[in-house]
Amino acid sequence: MPEAPLALRPVLKFPDPRLRVVSKPIETLTEELRLLAQDMCEVMYDEPGVGLAAPQVGENVRLIVVDTQWNEEGASKSPLILVNPELSEHEGRIVWKEGCLSVPELEAEVERAERVLLLATDLEGAEVAIRAEGLQAVCFQHEVDHLNGVLLVDHISQLKRSRYTLRRKKQLRQEQEEDVAVGAAES
Ligand code: ZN
Repeated sequence: MPEAPLALRPVLKFPDPRLRVVSKPIETLTEELRLLAQDMCEVMYDEPGVGLAAPQVGENVRLIVVDTQWNEEGASKSPLILVNPELSEHEGRIVWKEGCLSVPELEAEVERAERVLLLATDLEGAEVAIRAEGLQAVCFQHEVDHLNGVLLVDHISQLKRSRYTLRRKKQLRQEQEEDVAVGAAES
């Protein structure tokens, strides 16, 4: 059977425990890391999303990709690839309705800093400093959350979280049952 080189990495979904791991700092910039960054950009544009963190594709390293402009009319794709991102200088408050590729069918209004300074390096090891505001600032905070094992569900009330968790578990059970049924029909 021919290989499928174009298959995208699957995005892990809540409540996958791998999304809860605190990701490790990146010490060496390898070819493997470059390929991972490339894969992550492909997944982000395919889904589509405006950001993706490495743990969402099962790699617990501190790498994120962000592109908050590409889906605006006429804008081309120019992803920011950020190694070991850190946030400082949080200023102001902003409430944004957020979704997450790893937390299906949940939209939540989350309060974040309106402006942040992000420090990181690029894939060549050059230092990067970005002053972000609005959507980009929200996105940076969301993606850095992922590196710390924090998910969108942690930003909603406990009641909503319990309801959502139950709904997801039911959904996963149904998917499993369907898989079993398909498997039985094929054998
Ligand atoms: Zn997310």
